[in-house]
Amino acid sequence: MPVKKEKKTRSFQLVKGMKDILPDDQKYWQYISQLAETLAVKYGFSRIDIPLVEDTQLFTRSVGQATDIVEKEMYSFIDKGGENISLRPEFTAGIARAYIEHGMINLPQPVKLYSIGPCFRYDKPQSGRYRQFHQLNFETIGDADPVTDAQIILIAYKINEMLNLPVIMQVNSVGCPQCRPDYELVLKDYFKKYRNKLSEVSQKRLLKNPLRILDSKEDLDQTIIEGAPQQVDHLCEECKNHFIKVLEYLDELEVPYALNPTIVRGLDYYTRTTFEVTTVEDAENGDKSRQIALGGGGRYDKLYESLGGRETPVVGFAAGIERLIGQIKEKDLKVPALPQAEIFLAQLGTEARRKALVLFEELYRAGFKVTEAFSKSGIKPQLEMADRLGAKLCLIVGQKEIIDGTVMIRDMDGGIQEVVDYKKIVPELRKRLEKMAVVRVAIEDKTV
Ligand code: AMP
Repeated sequence: MPVKKEKKTRSFQLVKGMKDILPDDQKYWQYISQLAETLAVKYGFSRIDIPLVEDTQLFTRSVGQATDIVEKEMYSFIDKGGENISLRPEFTAGIARAYIEHGMINLPQPVKLYSIGPCFRYDKPQSGRYRQFHQLNFETIGDADPVTDAQIILIAYKINEMLNLPVIMQVNSVGCPQCRPDYELVLKDYFKKYRNKLSEVSQKRLLKNPLRILDSKEDLDQTIIEGAPQQVDHLCEECKNHFIKVLEYLDELEVPYALNPTIVRGLDYYTRTTFEVTTVEDAENGDKSRQIALGGGGRYDKLYESLGGRETPVVGFAAGIERLIGQIKEKDLKVPALPQAEIFLAQLGTEARRKALVLFEELYRAGFKVTEAFSKSGIKPQLEMADRLGAKLCLIVGQKEIIDGTVMIRDMDGGIQEVVDYKKIVPELRKRLEKMAVVRVAIEDKTV
């Protein structure tokens, strides 16, 4: 008996921490991107797109050696030419590289740039935390005035406000290289007293980067952190004045904020202002282990110098698109649907299919959004499909219509069908769709 050879097939799954963005979710992505682009244009930001990969050292030197990102989350590898490169874990360092490399210092300052795109961090995947995620990123480069900090915080707030997400900006100042070292000593002395009571992660941070203990989400650390000395009480005169001005501008702009001494951000490059965006519920809840930031940012006046550029004051922020979408879904907020096909073109029989193929092109050229299912033959499955795709009108071409030189128009809402002269189909469709649009607007305005 011949042995039946078993076909070996392998099915594939998403790589851990990655996510497909399926058609049903595209409306959220398009809405958020459009909203960010609208804000960017209104506030004078130009788009910049930088590569997904950069020299690994760009991140180790800017983000910082003792940060989670550099210590354990970078997608780094040696390419075929022996270069050590990394997938970008964030935008700021790459934008700094581009600004310096392209001599943007010679442009009128400030240079305002925004980006939208994926970032990669080899993080522990969990709800709201992926290994490939997307950020909206805004940077105001070349302006040290606190008014720019306030404007960046305002834009970060506005994105959420426009999405109807109630958020609070958690604001802090981490000082500068003049005043921070003194504060770090005070902080270290304080935490040393509780060394044995701190969580394991914080005990490690005590040696390398005590400031980051304030960032801890571990329950064990929370009461100790509450009693910790605060940077705002140890700011130098310039940093204190800068911070007061930022807060005054925020008051003036009526941006809801809370002073939060634990917002030190995970990265080394921050100076003075730091902030994070949290939902109002999270801010009120107080349980840090549950809180996830929708965005964050601050000022980094020493970063560009550390990357070989001239002294350049910069303030910026990034918001996580997946997290914004998560909130929109959780709160069941409405986002506009993507434009759908207005017309479905159905055909019955081989001859009709040929005719429909030509008609499709005529309608496309006339500017209609048309769709079809040329591989289907019966009228029922085609009407079902038209319904599912949300078409407003269905055109039907059959043997009889070909002989008569006509097309049947079916109103998908009422099901009423009418025969129209083939030559008059374009103006007829235009008339009907315009009428439907007027009725729709009137319903939305509640004037009907
Ligand atoms: P960060 O600079 O780390 O604060 O990142 C800025 C924003 O990006 C965060 O507030 C999140 O909204 C988002 N984000 C950061 N890491 C992730 C991740 N692993 N998955 C999803 N979103 C993230």
